[in-house]
Amino acid sequence: MSALDRVIDDLKEEYSQRNPRSQAMMAMAENWMPGGNTRSVLHFDPFPLVIERGEGAYLHDVDGHVLLDCVGEFSAGLYGHSDPQILGAVSTAMASGIVLGAPNLYEARLAELVCERFPSVDLVRFCNSGTEANVLAAVTARHVTGRSAIVVFDGAYHGGVMTFGGGGNPMNVPFDWIVLPYNDAEQVRKTFAEEGRRIAAAFVEPVLGAAGNIAGQREFLQALRDETEKSGSVLIFDEVKTSRLGSGGVQKQLGITPDLTTLGKYLGGGFPLGAFGGSERIMSRFNPRIAGNLSHAGTFNNNVCSMAAGSMGLSEVFSEEIADAFLEKTETFRQQLDRDLKALSPRFHVSGMGSLISIHLRETAPERAADTTPASLAFRRVLNLTGLLSGVAFTGRGDIFLSLPMTDQDLATIRAAILKTAGEYGALCLEQA
Ligand SMILES: *Cc1c(COP(=O)(O)O)cnc(C)c1O
Repeated sequence: MSALDRVIDDLKEEYSQRNPRSQAMMAMAENWMPGGNTRSVLHFDPFPLVIERGEGAYLHDVDGHVLLDCVGEFSAGLYGHSDPQILGAVSTAMASGIVLGAPNLYEARLAELVCERFPSVDLVRFCNSGTEANVLAAVTARHVTGRSAIVVFDGAYHGGVMTFGGGGNPMNVPFDWIVLPYNDAEQVRKTFAEEGRRIAAAFVEPVLGAAGNIAGQREFLQALRDETEKSGSVLIFDEVKTSRLGSGGVQKQLGITPDLTTLGKYLGGGFPLGAFGGSERIMSRFNPRIAGNLSHAGTFNNNVCSMAAGSMGLSEVFSEEIADAFLEKTETFRQQLDRDLKALSPRFHVSGMGSLISIHLRETAPERAADTTPASLAFRRVLNLTGLLSGVAFTGRGDIFLSLPMTDQDLATIRAAILKTAGEYGALCLEQA
């Protein structure tokens, strides 16, 4: 057994002893759900904590521990657990009935806010998840172009059935995928030169999220814009996560306007929601007043909780001013953490943007999914366990999500937890091949 395996085993042992109720409840859950799980990403060894409640930026588990929440519901938890304005908006909405089966008081307001904020979005439609938004964007692009192939990037995550990490996924919807390396503008130009006429769409996350929060370079994203335009393909920005990066997402920051944008995660104020929107040319095909229109169904597309919470979120809690200030504050935190870790070893890189953060251990800053090293994976595994043992919940796979209710003191706590783990275990992790 390697020294690293021994360290991880000891941490797991300490974790199990500290969390007997979670362990028992997860064992019980296995009677009815495979592995006790209904959401793959939440599983990690030896077992995830069962959370009893959340408040602000904190979680309370069933064994009585309080944890600072950097899982942030994988970015859907932007508002934390108990923002009073969000809770107020949902209570008000619910008091007037929850299954109205008709246009309600909230959906046009949320649509207005989305169209105002995201430069590419002239018209928008809502659905129930980011996955659904991306599947709908894909079939829309295939329909409007009459083509079948779809360009995506290695390591991309566009939902449970559009997953391109780790060499493919048997659960993916069976489209004609062309998988290219991220941040490789040359490869994009070459592929479109050769195959552009059969490419319906290109999907891109402006920050490659699940593969370790790797920011897209301007030249790469611009090449995608130029090539899709030339070939008549639909450029789709998956801003399900990155739409929180400033007042209009990465598209506004860079001034690169895709044809379609998909949204989700925090957009519903913590309630289930997805959205896809874009140019009038494409989106107006869904207008039910037009003969031959495209139909897009969904029982809960305009459910009052998501609509009310989402519009309160964008109009008040995460207004454009607050979104820009939050990006600046969290980006300062990320860059400072990068400098602090580099003081320990220049092989630490704090990647991402603003409140979407990952830690990489390698010689140079990562540019694509294949740049994730065994050392990075080892460090994230250790940080997950040391964090949970010391009162900071990081995701099992190592992403760090910052949320609006976090105070400066909370950020200092996160920084200290990471630096302590890096100091104690960084050298051991860096030894991994
Ligand atoms: C989470 C996520 C999705 C899928 O959203 P769900 O609401 O979980 O279905 C799609 N794309 C990106 C970039 C995401 O982060």
